[in-house]
Amino acid sequence: MLKTHGCGELRAEHAGQTVTLAGWVHRRRDHGGLVFIDLRDSTGLVQVVFHPDRAPAAFATASEVRSEFVLQIVGEVQPRRDGTENTDLPTGAIEVQAARTSVLNASDTPPFPVNQDTNVDELTRLRYRYLDLRRERMAGNIRLRHRVVKFMRDFMDAEGFIEVETPVLNLATPEGARDYLVPSRVHPGSFYALPQSPQQWKQLLMVGGIDRYFQIARCYRDEDLRGDRQPEFTQLDVEMAFVEESDILDLTERLYIALAAAVGPEFNLPSPFPRLTYGEAMERFGSDKPDLRYGLEIRNLSEFAAQGEFRVFTQAVEAGGRVRGFSVPGGADLGRRALDALTEVAKAAGASGLVWVQFAGEGPLDGIAADDIKSPAARFFTPEAWASIGQACGTQRGDLLLIAAGLDEVTSKVLDALRRQVAEDRALADPATLAFAFITEFPMFEYDAENERWSAVHHLFTSPFMDDLPLLARDPGSVRSHAYDLICNGQEIASGSIRIHSRDVQLQVLATLGLSLDEAREKFGHMLEAFRFGAPPHGGIAPGVDRTVALFAGERDIREVIAFPKTKSASDPMTGAPAPVAERQLRDVHIRLDEEALEVLTAAIHAADPPSGG
Ligand code: ASP
Repeated sequence: MLKTHGCGELRAEHAGQTVTLAGWVHRRRDHGGLVFIDLRDSTGLVQVVFHPDRAPAAFATASEVRSEFVLQIVGEVQPRRDGTENTDLPTGAIEVQAARTSVLNASDTPPFPVNQDTNVDELTRLRYRYLDLRRERMAGNIRLRHRVVKFMRDFMDAEGFIEVETPVLNLATPEGARDYLVPSRVHPGSFYALPQSPQQWKQLLMVGGIDRYFQIARCYRDEDLRGDRQPEFTQLDVEMAFVEESDILDLTERLYIALAAAVGPEFNLPSPFPRLTYGEAMERFGSDKPDLRYGLEIRNLSEFAAQGEFRVFTQAVEAGGRVRGFSVPGGADLGRRALDALTEVAKAAGASGLVWVQFAGEGPLDGIAADDIKSPAARFFTPEAWASIGQACGTQRGDLLLIAAGLDEVTSKVLDALRRQVAEDRALADPATLAFAFITEFPMFEYDAENERWSAVHHLFTSPFMDDLPLLARDPGSVRSHAYDLICNGQEIASGSIRIHSRDVQLQVLATLGLSLDEAREKFGHMLEAFRFGAPPHGGIAPGVDRTVALFAGERDIREVIAFPKTKSASDPMTGAPAPVAERQLRDVHIRLDEEALEVLTAAIHAADPPSGG
């Protein structure tokens, strides 16, 4: 090794020892005839002093070096003089008195400061990701990621699971997201698809008698990268045989509680994790991934519509919709601009408007006077009726009531958006809390109006409720499934399901999805065949590794916890991927590009979405 110690490892007890260090110049200061260098490596920082008389050659070298030069330094560890200790730094009690130093490599001036957490635009960060990784934030995140993944592996191993690798070159699937395709050289005109997840493989492993499988698995989906999706991401992929839904939820809950204790003991983690059905979550929070760190629970107010003269409410109910709302404690203090902003949020979520009601004063709503009720809709109900509506939501004087009317799918979206906005505006979500919960009983199918067919809400291997099988043909929309999600703080962390293990049920589900017997055999013949040979009951789940690390790192965006992520336009500004390939490579895989069509396509894509890169 070119060093005897890590920079960040040195403590008072090393005083008197001669050490050899190697690392980067984090910062250099010339001070009172001395040169000070903070030397950095992966273990941290230490201050090195260069004295012009005691080590003239080292002093001369140190006077020349700049940020991010790579140095090797031999010197003696000394206690710092009284009053110059730095208690913010783990090595702050000592410094290294340099005797010799050599420059292992020079550095150009970095395009952004490595030694500060300044805001740098993402394109530049990704273009020079290796410099970004030297910065404290990214270095910490990547180390945390290692600890999370290692913990997951150890935990699964201790629970009797074994890690099995599954193929990356696969048969394309007709369902789900768009596949990344890989052309075959030896089968002209044929393509592999990169796995969107190892779903089929892990089920086949269950048939193969490996009844507890996991894998830290890379998944590839060619989706539009809205939000913080990545074209490739990592899952802790899990499958078990001979289990029921609760076994998998229990396992997942144990994993996350233990993981938090290991990598995020500073977080408050309410447990046991609440288990809500999809229906209950939609009813109470308007979302299948509600943030449970705050209340703002939605209530059904339809019964009150008939008590007033408000057409917006009565018409919604007549049209098969409902009136729903929630109370914002203390919200009577919101001014007109804030209320207008909330109305805009409601409209953006699909509402034609938002009904807000403010109740002035303090204490319960009983006997409230008309003067204390402020709302554009105030006149449509008597003060008593408004009081009853408010009471149904737990409203007090001093609070604000937000109400939406319409079909459930609209009011849910609107009220979910309002809950999130109000919580953000009023800082209701404690950043130190991780509010995990399971959402269960997802519907099996949703109607895809664009393509006029049913599609699977989770995926087509998910088991419907056996009691609901008779509904498959008659009323697919009301079939419940054994699909479940783990959510936390308003985000989906994991999804999974109990699977179909009967060939017959699988065929019925495929038929509901509109696949003919021939198509089913062509695309899923291997699964249907496997189900003929004693497939055990099985199920699984797949927690998102990136999302999990981001949660414990306190990062919003998963790109902050991936060493080399792609931009929102799925490109890598450092290497330039994706990029055209040589004509010869294309010929090898029997692909000929239509240059004219490409030009038209590129122009159209750039017109719709100028390549900002970000
Ligand atoms: N393969 C599923 C997914 O990627 C997870 C699962 O059902 O286990 O969403």
